[in-house]
Amino acid sequence: MLLAEPVLIVFAGVFGSLLGSFLNVCVYRLPRDESVIRPRSRCPSCQTPIVWYDNVPVISWLLLQGRCRKCQVRIGVRYPIIELLMAGVWTGSIAWLGPTVAALSAALLTTLLVGILLTDAEHMIIPDEFSLGGLGAGVGLSLAPGGLSPVQSLAGAALGFGLMWTAGTVGKWWAKREAMGGGDLKMMAMVGSFLGWRGVLLTVFLGSLVGALVFLPALLRRERFREVPFGVFLAMGGVAALVAGDRIAAWYLHAVGWR
Ligand SMILES: [Zn+2]
Repeated sequence: MLLAEPVLIVFAGVFGSLLGSFLNVCVYRLPRDESVIRPRSRCPSCQTPIVWYDNVPVISWLLLQGRCRKCQVRIGVRYPIIELLMAGVWTGSIAWLGPTVAALSAALLTTLLVGILLTDAEHMIIPDEFSLGGLGAGVGLSLAPGGLSPVQSLAGAALGFGLMWTAGTVGKWWAKREAMGGGDLKMMAMVGSFLGWRGVLLTVFLGSLVGALVFLPALLRRERFREVPFGVFLAMGGVAALVAGDRIAAWYLHAVGWR
């Protein structure tokens, strides 16, 4: 075990960076309804296919100083940042939880939430591949022993969907227009399948809190919004619920005098 652990952590880092590279492709192509498999990655400017040695996570970007080898157009710094972030997420999950299903579940959920945060912030879209695909993964992982049971996973998914549907219906009645996108409903079903019913409540609570704080200044200026990328805030709430859920729940119960 002593020998296996560092090897495993390095492996998780390499895997995470490669997954981050794929996540970059997904975030770019899914909102545009393009296949994430074909064609191979191209320079968005000159359309030249990117050869494998120019596609090594982080390192290629640094060696090429953030430019396309052919046409020298700038490649955004967000690409290597996402690759580094994903390397950190997967390494951190293994280091924190060991080589367990819980670590796989934590790393996968965070990856999905980062993908949703980026597509929702940029395009106001939460792709089904992240939400419904992730829901399948969350329910699937509950079949493995050690985490949520399948019943808890499905109950969490149902609560996530139901809670957002109710909020959307009330919001629509109150605001006289569509208040909640279908993507938010499917996203919270996914979060519920990973974190269960308590995780859903905490995610929606924390997400709403952050969203309210961000939009409060604009609301006070009486600005009107057509759409708010609520998925961005729910994604932040989801990561917080994943990492600190138990501590936040304990603190809250203590604060209200239940424990
Ligand atoms: Zn180019």
